[in-house]
Amino acid sequence: MTVSTQRPEPGDLRTRVTGAVTGPQDPGYDEARAVWNAMIDCRPWGVVRAADVGDVATTITFARDHGLDLAVRGGGHNVAGKGTVDDGLVLDLADLHAVSVDAAASTVRVEAGASLTHVDAATEPHGLVVPAGVVSTTGIAGLTLGGGVGWLTRRYGLTADNLVSVELVTADGGQLTASETEHPDLFWALHGGGGNFGVVTAFTFRAYSHGPQLFAGNFVYRQDRWRQAWTALELWTRDLPDEMTTITTSLTPPPAAEMGDEPLLLLGFAWASADRAAGEAQVRRLRELAPPDAEEVGDTRWVEWQAAYDFLLPKGVRAYWRNTSFDRLDDAVIDVLLRRGAEQTWTGTAFDVHHLGGAFGRVPEEATPFPNRAARFWLNMYGFWSDVADDASRIAFVRGMSADMEPFSTGGQYINWQGAEPTGHRGLDPRAVFGPTKHQRLVDVKRRYDPENVFHVNQNIAPV
Ligand SMILES: Cc1cc2nc3c(=O)[nH]c(=O)nc-3n(C[C@H](O)[C@H](O)[C@H](O)COP(=O)(O)OP(=O)(O)OC[C@H]3O[C@@H](n4cnc5c(N)ncnc54)[C@H](O)[C@@H]3O)c2cc1C
Repeated sequence: MTVSTQRPEPGDLRTRVTGAVTGPQDPGYDEARAVWNAMIDCRPWGVVRAADVGDVATTITFARDHGLDLAVRGGGHNVAGKGTVDDGLVLDLADLHAVSVDAAASTVRVEAGASLTHVDAATEPHGLVVPAGVVSTTGIAGLTLGGGVGWLTRRYGLTADNLVSVELVTADGGQLTASETEHPDLFWALHGGGGNFGVVTAFTFRAYSHGPQLFAGNFVYRQDRWRQAWTALELWTRDLPDEMTTITTSLTPPPAAEMGDEPLLLLGFAWASADRAAGEAQVRRLRELAPPDAEEVGDTRWVEWQAAYDFLLPKGVRAYWRNTSFDRLDDAVIDVLLRRGAEQTWTGTAFDVHHLGGAFGRVPEEATPFPNRAARFWLNMYGFWSDVADDASRIAFVRGMSADMEPFSTGGQYINWQGAEPTGHRGLDPRAVFGPTKHQRLVDVKRRYDPENVFHVNQNIAPV
């Protein structure tokens, strides 16, 4: 490949694509370059809003020809800011967000710039759902390529586990579809290996009959009941049916909230089955193990439940996150959760514990790159704040809690939940994340589809 030594101008690309190209001199540049995490303040050479698949191919080729770093953006929610790059070219897919539902086949084709809202809005009228994440503004692309964990994970597995096929443009500008039968090596890598292998233009997912009502809710515990609640979670989840997924969040609610401004524990659950009575029986069992100080339980529309946490994490907050997994809620782990739970402030930090297993846990470890299927629990630790003066303390909280949990960690971090590390720090080590065997398999796929590492602004799998 020959790389042009002459520095191009955004105007050079403007004549070749249909979508808008915004450079530093253009109005709207600050809006075009902004990603979800306000800590990420990159100044790209230019941002292309792809209008069609042709624009995607042209942009990849342009970046290669001119030696520009290429960042690919779906929803722009990556906490480490992998949807943008300093002095390089951002390929933003936000205008490609069409969703089409094949109700007879129970499949859904989703263009790669869609958010979870686009997907849920299209599937709800058909009584169908695609398992995805818990905040509706998140991009389907990055979420799926990293895995995708949410309220239906125990019932139907990860978002990536429900892929039927993936349409993408490769590093040489070619188009292909990956599935179990076409490019199966690449299809495997797209189940958690991130954005390393090409630019996805559309995903086709399996969908499931669902709702539109969901039996779901939250038990709320004040601090003096936290130990009882965490202990109850350990006992309750030992023999919980797949239909029940729980996410337990430790946070201080916003100032005007009903329960004041003290840190609280919210034990949230969603029952993915039409057999409501069976769900109620499970909730009763939990109530007996740890009676909550307050509760809000009932039927809610799936799309509303999916947006229930949106207020907590709006675009423009400053953020630093980490993730780990563990397999028991014993006294030693609970001691950490109690101590760290008491440190929460609004806005500032929070953490949540996902109960895993179920359909997610039954997928064989080697069947996808996604790491650590055996983990019983996942811990997401997140800082979200608005004042620059709080940067150091919020980051210190997340790192400190992460260190506290190190002795209990069963490994296998989630690439989608990793904050940006300071310059010069490597961040996640893919060998440690995926394990040597799966990492080597990912490297082999990378060599086949992107030997020059054109797609390196991501949790990178280097081809060598
Ligand atoms: C508020 C919030 C809530 C979240 N909730 C959840 C949750 O419930 N469950 C969960 O699993 N995760 C969750 N996440 C994490 C989320 O999965 C990651 O941040 C993910 O990277 C977001 O995808 P995106 O498309 O919005 O990000 P982007 O920043 O646009 O992209 C992220 C990565 O994916 C790559 N990429 C994006 N689009 C493409 C494409 N079309 N082709 C190839 N590569 C591409 C990019 O190169 C980049 O490396 C949440 C994040 C936020 C900020």
